[in-house]
Amino acid sequence: MNFDLTDEQKLWQKTVHEFVANEVQPKAHEVDVTGEFNWTATRKMGPLGLLGLNIPEEYGGAGVDAVSAAIAIEELGWGCGSTALAIAAHNGLGTTPIVLYGSEELKKQWLPLVANGKNKLAALALTEPGAGSDLQGGVVTKAVKDGNEWVINGAKMWCTNASIAEYIITLVRTDPAGGSRSLSQILAPTDTPGVKIGPAEKKMGLHGSPTHAVTYEDVRVPLDNLIGEEGK
Ligand SMILES: Cc1cc2nc3c(=O)[nH]c(=O)nc-3n(C[C@H](O)[C@H](O)[C@H](O)COP(=O)(O)OP(=O)(O)OC[C@H]3O[C@@H](n4cnc5c(N)ncnc54)[C@H](O)[C@@H]3O)c2cc1C
Repeated sequence: MNFDLTDEQKLWQKTVHEFVANEVQPKAHEVDVTGEFNWTATRKMGPLGLLGLNIPEEYGGAGVDAVSAAIAIEELGWGCGSTALAIAAHNGLGTTPIVLYGSEELKKQWLPLVANGKNKLAALALTEPGAGSDLQGGVVTKAVKDGNEWVINGAKMWCTNASIAEYIITLVRTDPAGGSRSLSQILAPTDTPGVKIGPAEKKMGLHGSPTHAVTYEDVRVPLDNLIGEEGK
């Protein structure tokens, strides 16, 4: 098996490396000391494709192969661990669920918006105060149907990008009886009334990658914001 990078992947690596050397690495120390997310570099990542690594081109992304996506995050990590974590979470956690399982409407509405660098990013909230490794047994954040809407109540922890995200894909229990088909993912725009994002956690490192507690108090979103099938 040949593990060498293709010419196209080598060119991509060089392009991303040069971008990171100019825009990301010089700010790494400042980002770590101040805890300020590097928006200046992130704005320029949209046109380069770094905010849509897994997003097909028809939805405004770069749609690169898995090795090229890994190369991009590796190069970002070379320049600044915080920025790399935020961009990795945006791509891998915040957009991939929509790419893989979202409806056509959700793809059209959200993917171009978060891939172009002009807006905020994407986030995924799984972890809760009582649910880390054991999401299946521990998640108590719930969503119940009310007319054409889901009503979400609960609390999440350690959500990367929450304060710099357009939406948070939220893992919720949709069947109170529990069991292996009781969890669903629902997209909650961060400006929805009832979404409360706590202050950035004071971590031991990666200060420029904001991590937050998020609470949901009677958060109403359309039923169509379900990603994939209910309970799956
Ligand atoms: C910087 C940072 C960013 C994060 N970003 C996100 C995010 O964007 N979205 C999100 O949803 N979450 C996020 N998280 C949370 C992360 O996913 C959880 O911390 C992780 O799932 C582990 O859960 P926990 O911390 O509750 O640890 P626990 O599940 O309590 O585990 C603690 C320890 O016990 C071990 N352990 C657990 N269960 C068992 C078992 N059955 N047998 C043996 N050992 C076991 C674990 O391996 C671990 O060493 C983030 C966390 C950090 C630190």
